[in-house]
Amino acid sequence: MAGKIIILSAPSGTGKSTIIKHLMATRPDLDLHFSISATSRKPRVGETHEKEYYFLTEEEFRRKIAAGEFVEWEEVYEGTLYGTLVSEVEKKVEEGHTVIMDIDVKGSLSVKKRFGDRALAIFIMPPSIQELEVRLTNRGTDSAADVARRLAKAGYEMTFAPQFDCIVINDDFFKAADEVAEKIKEFRPGE
Ligand code: ADP
Ligand code: 5GP
Repeated sequence: MAGKIIILSAPSGTGKSTIIKHLMATRPDLDLHFSISATSRKPRVGETHEKEYYFLTEEEFRRKIAAGEFVEWEEVYEGTLYGTLVSEVEKKVEEGHTVIMDIDVKGSLSVKKRFGDRALAIFIMPPSIQELEVRLTNRGTDSAADVARRLAKAGYEMTFAPQFDCIVINDDFFKAADEVAEKIKEFRPGE
């Protein structure tokens, strides 16, 4: 395998997907290929099957688990499954591309374990839990109950930060995105 794997993880609402979209649109030099995960959650308004996620029923998801199609999968929120498909990662990395993934803290550590120093795990830290609540509420994509569930998990997720290769604080968006781009550029797998 010649390419590299970049993992971005953070409490929901911190800004991972906005950073990834921004870098994919503005930094062709980084050769980023997004790893589309599978999930059993319903699409949000504006999300498309095979773009943000492969939206599966729980039954379809469990069939893929049984068939060994996942690099990793987690029940990130009670009753909601998310997973990284082998088919999204291995071929692109073998071809020498950079695969970027937006996955939860436990999934990130599983990917790190499997791919070792081919993978760089970046934790994106929100400036505060209060700001996280503002971002989740302003995003306007989740019900009040879902916002509460996501916030309730944020403190726990932040305890995983020291296990990551590096931490980037997403306070000023463009500064954070530039910092992530720099880390990706500097990363030399296997060194
Ligand atoms: P995640 O993918 O981590 O769940 P999103 O990328 O969806 O988070 O970002 C959550 C919301 O916060 C979005 O509405 C996004 O536009 C906004 N956002 C992202 N980064 C910042 C920032 N640095 N300052 C203010 N708002 C931000
Ligand atoms: P959301 O529902 O906001 O899109 O994502 C919720 C959480 O699931 C986020 O923390 C996101 O990083 C995580 N997630 C998305 N895809 C995967 C995946 O393939 N595996 C794991 N373990 N987590 C994922």
